[in-house]
Formats: sequence, C-alpha cells, structure tokens
Amino acid sequence: MAGGRRRGGGGRRGGARQHPGTPAPASAPLSAAATTAQPQAGAAPRTGRSKKAPVESAVRAPDVDSLGFQAMDRNVPGLSHVILQKLNMKSYEDYKSAMDGRKRGSDFGIRTYFDMFQKMEDTFKFCVECKKLPNALPDPKSLRRCKRCQNVYYCGVACQRANWPLHKKFCKKLKLVALDRLVEWLVFTGDIPFPTDTWTKPARDVKGWEDWFSMQEQLEEKLGAIVAGRYMTLLWANAGKPRPEDAELRESIRRLVTDFHSRPLTIGLGLRLFGIDPLTRPLTVHVVGASHVETLNTRLTDYDELTRMFPGHQGVEMVMVGVDVVDGPIMRPPLTTLAPRGKVYLSSYKGLYHDFWESQVETKLAAPPDLVVGFHPGFHACPDLLAGWLPTLLLLRDYRLPVLFTVYSEQELKASLQILVELETHIVGYASNPFASLRPEQVYSSPNKPPVYCSSHYIALLGAEAVPGAEELEDDDGWQGGEPSAAAVAGGTAPGLG
Ligand SMILES: [Zn+2]
Ligand SMILES: [Zn+2]
Repeated sequence: MAGGRRRGGGGRRGGARQHPGTPAPASAPLSAAATTAQPQAGAAPRTGRSKKAPVESAVRAPDVDSLGFQAMDRNVPGLSHVILQKLNMKSYEDYKSAMDGRKRGSDFGIRTYFDMFQKMEDTFKFCVECKKLPNALPDPKSLRRCKRCQNVYYCGVACQRANWPLHKKFCKKLKLVALDRLVEWLVFTGDIPFPTDTWTKPARDVKGWEDWFSMQEQLEEKLGAIVAGRYMTLLWANAGKPRPEDAELRESIRRLVTDFHSRPLTIGLGLRLFGIDPLTRPLTVHVVGASHVETLNTRLTDYDELTRMFPGHQGVEMVMVGVDVVDGPIMRPPLTTLAPRGKVYLSSYKGLYHDFWESQVETKLAAPPDLVVGFHPGFHACPDLLAGWLPTLLLLRDYRLPVLFTVYSEQELKASLQILVELETHIVGYASNPFASLRPEQVYSSPNKPPVYCSSHYIALLGAEAVPGAEELEDDDGWQGGEPSAAAVAGGTAPGLG
C-alpha cells in the first residue's frame, strides 16, 4: 500500500465499487432468507407491538453477496445453486433483487411454516467431510445429521468418523449456532427483543451485557413469556428438530437479544470513547458501508436502545449509507434540521460514502457526522474490497472524523489494523467490544471452525498519524487541513472512556 497522503477524498471518482459487509466469515445467515420469509398461506405471525406488516413476505439479514456465493462454492461446490433453488430463484440476480427490496412480496415459494424451516435446513445439507450435496449421493436421504449439534451432516459413517477428531472441537458451539438460527425467527415475529426500560445506571457504569441484563426488570418473566409464547410453540412444531429444554431456549433468547442490541450499544460506546455527549447537543451518526445486515427489515425503532442508554439526550440522527442499503421504512432522506430531541431518527442513503459526502454533506442537505460507524467493513478481506473502501477511508482520515469500525474476530482485527496503519490513520484505540453480539455464527459452508461474533472487536480512529516530514509530501491543492467539517470535530474529542 502506497502511503502517499491524498487530501479531501482523493480519487473519489471511478473507484471500484465499495463493497460493504464482510463476504466470507458470516455468510451463515443465508438461511435467514428462508427463516424470515413469511408463508403466504396459513396463519401469519402477528406482532404484539405491530412492528411489521404481518402478511408481507420479509427476508432478514442474509449477509451474502456475490463474493459470499463464490466463497461458498469454493468450500462446497454447487451449494449456492441449492440455496437459490430453495428460495425459488433462478439466479444470483434474482436473489440480489429480493435483497434490495426490488422484488417486494416475494414469498420464495414458501407455503407453510414447515416448508419454511425445511428449506432453511436443506441449505445446510451437505457432507461436511467430503462436501457432497444430497443429489450427488445414490440415496439423497442417506445424509445423516450429527445428533449432538443438530447442525452438520454426513453422507455416511465413514465420513462422520473421519470428521470427528476435527468436529468434536466445534460440535458444542455448533449446537448453539443451530439453535439460535431457528430462534432468530422470533426476532421477525416481534417476540425478540423483549421491551426494555430506561437504564437505571449511567452508561459509564454499564460495562457489558451482564450489567445490561441486570438492569432489566422482571427479566425472567420476560424470557419465560417468550419461551411459552405462541411462536416458540409454532417454531418447534415445524422445525423438524426436538424442542430443547426451556433453560437452553432462555439462553438462546438472551444471545439473540444481545445480537439485536449490539449495534446501538456499540454506537453508544463509540460516542463515549470519543467523549461525545448526547445530552449536550443533537448528534448525527453516519453508518458507513451499511448493507442488508443493517437495513433489511429495519424498523424505525430498532436503535431506540440508545434513548434508554442516554435518557434526556438532545436527539440522535442516524444515516445508513451504503450501496446495498435496502428499501424500507428507514429509506428516507437525512434530516436538514436537527434531530428531534429525545428521539433516534433513522434515515438512509443508497450509494457510496464519498458520493454521499459530496452530494449531501457538502451541499448541507445532510449534517456532517459527529461519529462515523462501520460494522464489519471487510476492507481487509481482499484487494477489491479495499480498493472500494479506499476513497472512503481517506475521506474519513483527511476530514478527521471520529470513526469506529467493528470486526468479527481477532484475526480480522489484526488484518484491519495493518491496513489502517499503512494508510497512516491515527488509531486511537482498539479492543474487544463489551457489547459484541454473544450469538455464535458459523462460517456457513465450512462449519468446523471457531464461530465468529458480530462486532466482536472495535477500532477507533481519528485523523492521520503525524508523520515527520509529512508536510513535504502534501500536494499544494490549496487546502491545508483546517476545518472542512468543523461540526464533526467540535465538541472536543477526548478519546478514552471516562
Ligand atoms: Zn461424505
Ligand atoms: Zn455435532
């Protein structure tokens, strides 16, 4: 990586497509497409809090893209085809259209709950040892599931035996993965998360999930109600797997609740890291590289935990910016006025961040950000992704915007830090995230690996690293740093948690 310091979003035209999201590690939620597709026939789930149109088909959060499909087929040749087939689609383009919300009301050919869970499970049916798909076997039904984890399949005893020395290291965790994958359906029905209250402790005293759960009044009753709920019953009547003990279901619900609230709480953590106080002024947060993961079926209330975290705040606007932002309720333009006091306001922009900057921020159609957050940007994954991200990374650096990136694992953390150092970005700090999702996710087509966790680590950045003699490298482009986005750096960024 050339360390040449370009100014003001250099190279903003004609860069490779900025590719948000991480393609490989968490392509597991593929199956989420199936889990949350609403059967058109039969009783449609009704949400207690009327969060969603009950009958409309909905797909949630498959973190997959063409690169994900390619990676998957490298591990298990032909698997992507199975998935498209199960979703009643002909091509990746069909899939992409559905994900983009261009094919509204698509029901993926799913007619019953049983069908829905079955199709989802079918996408996991390949021999984890020899990678054969059912149609490559003399008897497609001979594929057997590991009884312990209910997650991985084998074409026969020989493959199961051969795989056990490796699989035994991951079998226990993979059981949780498979369980959470099913229980996640209750996020769609509206059972998860349970209603939460204003925090009874100041944000600085809430060090992690244990503290967060300890603030939830009548937690056991709330978990119990979900376990005993109609949709939990419906789930296990149709899942084709034995219903686990209630205690296991409670644990699963807790993990999924952390998964749901991880993003708002990570943003809250970012505000605190940079000493940005939501009680003193209205704030704008840009979520850069937002994709299906952040925007598919996102409700206007999904980040309200920030309001409970900072009671009495002056208003927070969040703008999701990315080429893969999905059409939905939050697809509305950024505010031109201040965010409404005491509320979290979500809006979206479908496009590259540096284009958004040029067309919206510089023209004052959107407020400059107090904080920029990127969930799993994935620029470490391959040169193409990095090329797509480069103009944005340089813009964030050169405008000295407070930035928080999250990654899926320690390995990703190291690779990302390496790139940011090469870009001469000033790294304020990095650590494991106290508000990481506790839900384990497998590498979909290669399950015998340590699971990953959403936003497991974070990296905080602010501006450029001071390099001796760097000023000699500056182009004389008439801009000497100064304050291109004064609002962004106003408010005294004092990194470090107080
Ligand atoms: Zn096999
Ligand atoms: Zn197993």
